[in-house]
Amino acid sequence: MFIAANWKMNLNKNQIYDFINNIQDFKFSNDVEACIFPSSIFIDYVANLNKNSSILLGAQNCHFSEKGAFTGETSPISLKLLGCNYVLLGHSERRINNNENSNYVRKCSFSAINADLIPIICVGESLETRDKGNALDYIKNQVHESLPENYKQAYIAYEPIWSIGTGQIPSHYEIEEIHTLIKDEVKKVTNKSVKVLYGGSVNPKNAKEIMSINNVDGTLVGGASLNVKDFLAIYSSAVK
Ligand code: PEP
Repeated sequence: MFIAANWKMNLNKNQIYDFINNIQDFKFSNDVEACIFPSSIFIDYVANLNKNSSILLGAQNCHFSEKGAFTGETSPISLKLLGCNYVLLGHSERRINNNENSNYVRKCSFSAINADLIPIICVGESLETRDKGNALDYIKNQVHESLPENYKQAYIAYEPIWSIGTGQIPSHYEIEEIHTLIKDEVKKVTNKSVKVLYGGSVNPKNAKEIMSINNVDGTLVGGASLNVKDFLAIYSSAVK
């Protein structure tokens, strides 16, 4: 199991200090990985503060180029040098607010993999798409268009847009259906496997149930990951 904490553009330096301090003595299990995704300006700070080697570090995004005239962007090579092992790509907030389409997400993922980062590629349908009965086709296309073939290890995060930060989650049947579809499609086309995380309104109350669903390999947590107690409770619910 894999628990990803997407802090987005939240937590200031003092709050990060408290959070990281509070998890230093926690006994993380060998079977469940925990990875924190701070905003890029604080990645180095978290890396230096964190003495608990069990906690992994990731970035919320990276550019498709290693270096060059790309004002305001972050190189995947720099992220790797800072200690990141993972990078989120194609989060719906970036797809919507920054107009990142799947083709762009694939380019960034390709470079991330070349920089030895493991991509976590986010996909997810809108409520309108789900209500029209097109969720499965939509997700299938997003996965095919966003996932490059140069990976050894990759994650897909299924995050229905209508579930992010709303408290609404898909039924167990719907989660299993999409996760199974993603794994089957990737296997069919690339002959490789991917792990699939569920993201969208995961909290300490629903985490255990969500992670018991077939083909759920972990969770990508937004809001609830900002609170250290909630984050550790979600983590603990993944430990068998
Ligand atoms: C997210 O945006 O990645 C997310 C899962 O958010 P939340 O847990 O707050 O719904």
